Amino acid sequence: MPFQKFQSDEIFTGYELLGSGYVLITNEEGEVDAIVMEQDAGDNIQKVRGILSPGLINCHCHLELSHLKNVIPPHTGLIEFLCSVVTKRNFDPAVIQDEIVKAEKEMWDNGIVAVGDIGNTADTADVKSKSKIRWHNFVEVLGFTDEKAEENLALYQSVLDRFNEIRSRSLSGPKTDPDGYRDRSSLVPHAPYSVSPKTFRLINQLTKNQVISIHNQEHPAEDELYKTGGGDYLKLFKIFGVNQSPFPVTGKSSIRSCLPYFNNGQTIFLIHNTYMPEEDISWANSYATENGLKLIYCLCPNANLYIENRVPPIELFIKHGCQLVLGTDSYSSNWQLSIAKEVQAILAMPRFATVATLTDVLKWATINGAKALQWDNDLGSFEKGKRPGVVLIDKNYWTSRRLI
Ligand SMILES: [Zn+2]
Repeated sequence: MPFQKFQSDEIFTGYELLGSGYVLITNEEGEVDAIVMEQDAGDNIQKVRGILSPGLINCHCHLELSHLKNVIPPHTGLIEFLCSVVTKRNFDPAVIQDEIVKAEKEMWDNGIVAVGDIGNTADTADVKSKSKIRWHNFVEVLGFTDEKAEENLALYQSVLDRFNEIRSRSLSGPKTDPDGYRDRSSLVPHAPYSVSPKTFRLINQLTKNQVISIHNQEHPAEDELYKTGGGDYLKLFKIFGVNQSPFPVTGKSSIRSCLPYFNNGQTIFLIHNTYMPEEDISWANSYATENGLKLIYCLCPNANLYIENRVPPIELFIKHGCQLVLGTDSYSSNWQLSIAKEVQAILAMPRFATVATLTDVLKWATINGAKALQWDNDLGSFEKGKRPGVVLIDKNYWTSRRLI
C-alpha cells in the first residue's frame, strides 16, 4: 500500500505541536502509520504551509437550520433571537434541503470529520445517509408542559427512529466504529426553559449511559425564570400560547434546578454556558461526580458573539478542570460553520491569552471532541492505526481545508 507523507510548518498531533522537522506518514486512505523525523522519512514528501491537524470535531451544530443563514441579524440578544427562530420556520422544503446540502459540504471540505448535531426534525436524514462525516444526532425535545409529555416524546421518538433507520443503511459506508455502526442518535432536552419536569424525567429514563446535550445558561433570564418565575422568557412562551412560567420556581439557578433530573450514567454536553457563574460550575462538577454523570462544556464563541456579543467564562472552566470542546452552533447564529474560526475567536481575545494556548484550543477542537463523543478510538489524534482525517489550518486567515 503506497504511503502519503506530509510535512508542514507545524504538526499538531492531537496532544502537542511539533515543529517543521517532522513528517506525518499515512496510508492512501489516511490511516496513520507514524510521525517521524524528516531524515527518516525517505522521499516523496508533500510540503505544505500551515498547521497539519487531525480532522476537526464540531460538537454542536443544528444542520437543519442552515437555511437561516443571514436571516436573523447579529446582536439581537438571546430572547429576540429565539423568538425569530421559532417564528421563521415556514421555509420552502426544497430551500431547506439545498442549504443542508451546502452546509454539510462546507464542513466536510473544511476538515470537520464528526458532528454532534441537534435536530427537532428528520430534515437532515437524507443528507446524512450519504455523508462522509460521522454524526451524533441529538434529537432535541421541546415540551413546555407535563400534560402531553408522553405524547410529545413519542413524536420525537419517531424522529429518532428515522435516524436509526438511516444509520443501519450506512453500515456499508467507509467509516464504521468497532460496534459496526457509524452514526449514533439520542433524545436530548433542548434547554431548561423549554422542557417540563415530567419530560425531563422521561428523557432521563430513556437515555441511560448515553451521550446527550442541553443548552445551558445562555442568558441571565434563564436563572431568573427558576429563581422567581418571571423575566424575559415569558415573551417566548407567549408565542406558544403559554402565559405564565410552566416551570417550578425553585429559588435556584437553572442548572441547579435541571441537572438533578439526571442520574442515569449520561455524558452531558452543556452548550454555551455564556452566563454560568463560578459557584454553579463547581456545584455542577460536584453533582456530576457524586451522581455518575460526565459533564462536557461546549464552547461556541462565534455564536455567543453573534447573538449576545459576549463570551463564556473560559478562564473559570479551565480553573475548575472542566472538559472543554468546541462547536459552531448553526447558520442561524454564525457567519460560517468552521471549527478553525472558533479556535481563532478564542485565541483573538486578550482575556484568554494567559489561560489558553494554541495547543490547548486545538486539543478542544480535536481529541477532546473525539473523546466526548466517544469516537477517540479512531478520530481526534495522529496515532498509529487511527483514521482521523488530515487537515491543513492556515494560521494567517484561520481557514482550514481537508487533505485526506
Ligand atoms: Zn444550539
